[in-house]
Amino acid sequence: MSDLEVDVVVIGAGPVGENVADRAHQQGLSAAIVESRLVGGECSYYACIPSKALLRPVDLYAATQRMPGVAQAVSGTVDAAKVLARRDEFAGEDDSSQADWLSGAGITLLRGHGRITSERAVEVTHHDGTTTSVAARSVVVATGSVPVYPPVDGLDGVNAWTNQEATQAKEVPDSLVILGGGVVGVEMATAFRGLGARVTLVQHSDRLVPTTEPEAGRRLHASLTASGVDVRLSTSMTAVRREGGPGDAAERSSTRGGVVATLDDGTEVRAAELLVAAGRKPATSDIGLDTVGLEPGTHLAADDTTTVQGDWLYAVGDASTGAQLTHMGKYQARICGDVVVARSKGAELGGRYSHHATTAEHTAVPQVIFTDPQIGAVGHTDAAARDAGLTVRAVSYEIGSVAGGSLQADGYDGFASIVVDTDRNVIVGATFVGQDVAEMVHAATIAVVGEVPLERLWHAVPSFPTMSEVWLRLLETYGL
Ligand SMILES: Cc1cc2nc3c(=O)[nH]c(=O)nc-3n(C[C@H](O)[C@H](O)[C@H](O)COP(=O)(O)OP(=O)(O)OC[C@H]3O[C@@H](n4cnc5c(N)ncnc54)[C@H](O)[C@@H]3O)c2cc1C
Repeated sequence: MSDLEVDVVVIGAGPVGENVADRAHQQGLSAAIVESRLVGGECSYYACIPSKALLRPVDLYAATQRMPGVAQAVSGTVDAAKVLARRDEFAGEDDSSQADWLSGAGITLLRGHGRITSERAVEVTHHDGTTTSVAARSVVVATGSVPVYPPVDGLDGVNAWTNQEATQAKEVPDSLVILGGGVVGVEMATAFRGLGARVTLVQHSDRLVPTTEPEAGRRLHASLTASGVDVRLSTSMTAVRREGGPGDAAERSSTRGGVVATLDDGTEVRAAELLVAAGRKPATSDIGLDTVGLEPGTHLAADDTTTVQGDWLYAVGDASTGAQLTHMGKYQARICGDVVVARSKGAELGGRYSHHATTAEHTAVPQVIFTDPQIGAVGHTDAAARDAGLTVRAVSYEIGSVAGGSLQADGYDGFASIVVDTDRNVIVGATFVGQDVAEMVHAATIAVVGEVPLERLWHAVPSFPTMSEVWLRLLETYGL
């Protein structure tokens, strides 16, 4: 006999887990959610929200410097203390309002560590050591991800920052060395440089943000370098030590010695702090996967219905094999909730573009990197499309060459590119690079998901003078 019986139990109350529980509950199912830390997850406190709260003022300041008349009016530096205070308003480490929302929505919150104990059974170990056993028709794993620590000698002993310490920093360090030039590394380099730190970025491969179009990484590299970030490409960190001993988290203060990082080109980098931004791994090592024949520590392979096993175990968000982005996790969550509900009613699941299939995962994952320039993309890059066996042709156009771009900022530096499937004459990928391009991505997402033929897209006329006019130039460049 279990302590609690519900239709669905979700392990992990990040943005993704919350959405599954809500979606299922709104359609009449009883739902419980288990959270070991803060309701709202990594995204709310240590990732999306605080990072964008740090980046938006930096981005806005940079934009003013590209506008004659405004640049002269905005002549000081960014007030870091005010930026950090505003960040706290968005991402203070207090989850009471999110917990209240759950209880208001009728979802049972169980605070503690959740583990699967057998098919359709979860045990929650509460912070006081007591346990609650939960029986559920459906179990959803939404435990998110944790940072990867690469093999660098001494890394364990220097109290390196992860995204948690970086996004929650109480002050801006005088200098910061960042290990990793993926999305988290370049965003944090932009934020901390803009807030006044000296930043060194160490990236093992020969380009930044390697999953984007190569030209996007090149433009970002040039811009970060121009802003004063010391970018070291094709370089690995081999060892790190903290001067004056390891210290501990409690003595994170100016009296603490800095870090000295040794790179594989024989140079050393000194900085007040080290941020490890070398990727993430699923938080699935201690959730009882072995009890149901699955490998702990791995991404849970979910099919298009988000199902992992039988008709009872599901995985969504960073813990799954899906895209590691909040909006995609929440998309998976909506699908998962609807599949759980459909199965509970004995209903048939729908097909590719129904509410029961994560089709966009294969074709149209959008992402914005909030650097300066911003990088926004959806679908395939040119190389990824070719790897997927598509016959494609890519074209690009400078956004600064359309009136809306040149009006947006003096010397507008950025471009748009599309990847066209020449067999079907539809766009399968698009990239936008430059100031203020974030909001341009969704138009491309609609074109990709809608599989709008180029001849029809010709009739989608962009307003003058907006940056969207680049769409017209892209089509003309393609040959329309
Ligand atoms: C610095 C940074 C910036 C980012 N910026 C963006 C962005 O701008 N846009 C974007 O789309 N994505 C961004 N991401 C990615 C985004 O944060 C993740 O994709 C998203 O948080 C995944 O949501 P989730 O619910 O799967 O996991 P999480 O948000 O990690 O939540 C999982 C929750 O499960 C809990 N949990 C784990 N194990 C257990 C257990 N056994 N029992 C109980 N509870 C458990 C955790 O405590 C956590 O609260 C960023 C990531 C980082 C690191």
